[in-house]
Amino acid sequence: MPQKKIAIVGGGISGLTTAFYLEPWIDRGHDFEIDLFESSDHLGGKIHTLRFDNGVVMESGAESFLSRKTAAIELCDLLGITQDLRGTRPDTKKTFVWHGEKMHRLPDGLSGFVPGDMNALKSTTLLSAFGKLRVGLDRFLPASKSDDDESLARFISRRIGKQAYQRLVQPLLCGIYSGDGDQLSLAATYPELRQLEKEHGSLIRGLQNRAASTTSEFPPFVTFPTGMSQLVESVSAKLQHTKISLEQPIKKISTIGDQYLIESDDQNKTYDIVVLATSARQSSTMVSDLNAKLSTVLASIPHVSTATVNLLYDAKAMTHTLDGYGFVIPSDQQNGLTAVTWTSSKHFDRVPERYKLIRGYVGRARAELDCSLSDQQIYELLEPELQRTMGIDIPPLEIRVTRWPHGSPQYTMGHCDRLAQIEDQLKQLPGIFLTGASYRGVGIPDCIRNSKLTADEIVSFTNQKSSA
Ligand SMILES: Cc1cc2nc3c(=O)[nH]c(=O)nc-3n(C[C@H](O)[C@H](O)[C@H](O)COP(=O)(O)OP(=O)(O)OC[C@H]3O[C@@H](n4cnc5c(N)ncnc54)[C@H](O)[C@@H]3O)c2cc1C
Repeated sequence: MPQKKIAIVGGGISGLTTAFYLEPWIDRGHDFEIDLFESSDHLGGKIHTLRFDNGVVMESGAESFLSRKTAAIELCDLLGITQDLRGTRPDTKKTFVWHGEKMHRLPDGLSGFVPGDMNALKSTTLLSAFGKLRVGLDRFLPASKSDDDESLARFISRRIGKQAYQRLVQPLLCGIYSGDGDQLSLAATYPELRQLEKEHGSLIRGLQNRAASTTSEFPPFVTFPTGMSQLVESVSAKLQHTKISLEQPIKKISTIGDQYLIESDDQNKTYDIVVLATSARQSSTMVSDLNAKLSTVLASIPHVSTATVNLLYDAKAMTHTLDGYGFVIPSDQQNGLTAVTWTSSKHFDRVPERYKLIRGYVGRARAELDCSLSDQQIYELLEPELQRTMGIDIPPLEIRVTRWPHGSPQYTMGHCDRLAQIEDQLKQLPGIFLTGASYRGVGIPDCIRNSKLTADEIVSFTNQKSSA
């Protein structure tokens, strides 16, 4: 096989796993030279654990991943770290919704964010009697015959009612996408829910059948004792043939003959293959000279700015019991804060007993965080909200704010068409590949699955080129 020079731009989980799944092909006879460029001073992107000398472990980005989507577990198996995975603490398994100036326990038996068990709804104070009846009506309503895409809000409200959507589903959705359900596309975010409606004539029946047929040896959400960065560290430790350059922001990509020129501050290099494992927004800037249409479509995928705020407290001074995993806040009840995780109650091994750790989330679609605010100003957005919802009026020992400017991709209505347009433009740019959270799944398992597919596509591409 002739040598192929490959540049991977972005050292988040998508860029790293693209390299990880490409490397074994080198032993199978592919002469790949792989360079990975990361703009920041560390790998991991939105997976970034902060570890302190006092034994405190804080997540600034992702805190766990879904085990049902198997790509991440399969990766852990290959890395030999599956035995390190930990589920959330079973003794505190309760989540709350802040509604009407009160905490309401989220019903058990939610399948994702939709009730899969009608019995569990009986005791919840979150929905009115009418709201509960309306959820149950899902079993009797016919499936829609239209194959047109619809918003998540419309689909869920159509099946289980507006109240359940607003009080139950919307705040949980906001936690996943920082998104607005009226704008998010069902086809791009949860096509399987529409499939369940079609196949079972009822969303709830479909979810019950799915739950009965899926078994997993893992708890639904898993993480690592030393934090999510363990995944990043394990992948990067296994990379033997990839040259990683940190603090190398790539500015532009252009063509030179049938190769691509990658420009950074201090070097220009040519490659046969370029993988952009950066957000669509970041990639849009890099390809603006290469293909203006591609750049425009990429820029049209919205990305919302948010922040996480880790707050460490003296356990003795903490007035709230923190008995649970935390709470979410429906958008009509919010004043900046979208959710709070009671981290030290939700996960094992996060803090020594003398501390309590919680994490607040600010910013979402239609109420984005202004990332120019200082740490103190962002904390001041939170402080009155923590007092209102949890009665916390003690100062934290430590405040760690992490901004995620344009960090949450939004799969809004039309997202699938935008993906098709991107594919169309890429046909004119053989050797350019896009992967990452902006396209076909924001969760870590989806990013890993898509990057593995990207590695496979690169191998097919090089096979075709060498046989042509
Ligand atoms: C606050 C938060 C919490 C989350 N929680 C969870 C969770 O609990 N579970 C879950 O499954 N998912 C979670 N997610 C989503 C998930 O973490 C991300 O979708 C995923 O990690 C994205 O990985 P990525 O590699 O595609 O992108 P990124 O992690 O964004 O990586 C892209 C990398 O490219 C680099 N880069 C950008 N521009 C350039 C350039 N010009 N040149 C070189 N490098 C560049 C960036 O510095 C970055 O390191 C969360 C996301 C956020 C923001």
